[in-house]
Amino acid sequence: MSNCIFCKIVNSEIDAYIVGENKHAIAFLDVNPISNGHTLVIPKKHTCDLNTCDKESLMGVFQLVQDVSRNIEASKLKPWGINYLSNQGNTAGQEVLHFHVHIIPKYAKNKGFYFRADKDETDDLKYVQSLIK
Ligand code: AMP
Repeated sequence: MSNCIFCKIVNSEIDAYIVGENKHAIAFLDVNPISNGHTLVIPKKHTCDLNTCDKESLMGVFQLVQDVSRNIEASKLKPWGINYLSNQGNTAGQEVLHFHVHIIPKYAKNKGFYFRADKDETDDLKYVQSLIK
């Protein structure tokens, strides 16, 4: 897509710090990193999110997530752990409408990215299961 910033990276129209690539996906450093090594993995073919992603691209993306994750773990960065994240939809915080998975190395318990989940009133699990299944 011509006005998509991530498509421009795929097409080498703008620079990025590329850290990995395969036939269907590319990985590059997030320009506003949460921590050292914060990487985005995207399909080369434009698609909005995980739900619209074709199977080949999806396989390529997650293979590359694993490859980059292993490289980060084996590197001198030496993270304590790694968080994987994908925001889907505006309310969930998706800013760039080209599917991407964040790889966010973790170096300390209360620094960088941390998952905070508020407990909420929910319908019973059996009912929710019936809605999804
Ligand atoms: P999200 O909120 O999940 O859509 O995240 C989009 C991410 O893309 C943000 O963390 C941005 O810092 C990052 N980003 C936006 N433009 C670029 C770019 N040109 N190169 C690298 N990362 C980018």
